[in-house]
Amino acid sequence: MATLSDLCVACGLCCDGSLFRFVPAKEAERETWEALGLPLVVQSGQLAMALPCRRLEGRCCTVYAQRPSGCRAYVCWLGKRLEEGTVGFPEALSAVQEAQRRIAVLAKEWPVEGPVVQATTAEALAGRFPSARAQKALEDVHAWLDERVHWPDP
Ligand code: SF4
Ligand code: SF4
Repeated sequence: MATLSDLCVACGLCCDGSLFRFVPAKEAERETWEALGLPLVVQSGQLAMALPCRRLEGRCCTVYAQRPSGCRAYVCWLGKRLEEGTVGFPEALSAVQEAQRRIAVLAKEWPVEGPVVQATTAEALAGRFPSARAQKALEDVHAWLDERVHWPDP
């Protein structure tokens, strides 16, 4: 039976900078991060690793079995529902693929430096939009991630 790790290796949205800019890290695990070739930074006073992650190849974590606790701790809402059995693997995979499709459209409509979702969202928050199509593409990405992938807002 397909599991969360099967979904994650086809996804990578929480590692490629689509969902987050950083993974939290603990000082006690500094050597683990360094042994994996993943440099840590201090972000807003917190130790963290900047995304996209160097150990992601395509959509797949190449150090999945050794990934630090900051990586292990996060399971998205979609993944949690897959683990609980409230969503099946085909539906979960389809949701991930649709998110990736929308992100690809965004990247085409709104070329930026760095991870496209985070970078374009920062631009949007500053009130800068290159075009109505780019704005719509970003809205489509967030709508899908919020509805299908992220944890719902409390
Ligand atoms: S966003 Fe969810 S499904 Fe995708 S890699 Fe992260 S935990 Fe796995
Ligand atoms: S180490 Fe693996 S799980 Fe952690 S951010 Fe990098 S690619 Fe993702």
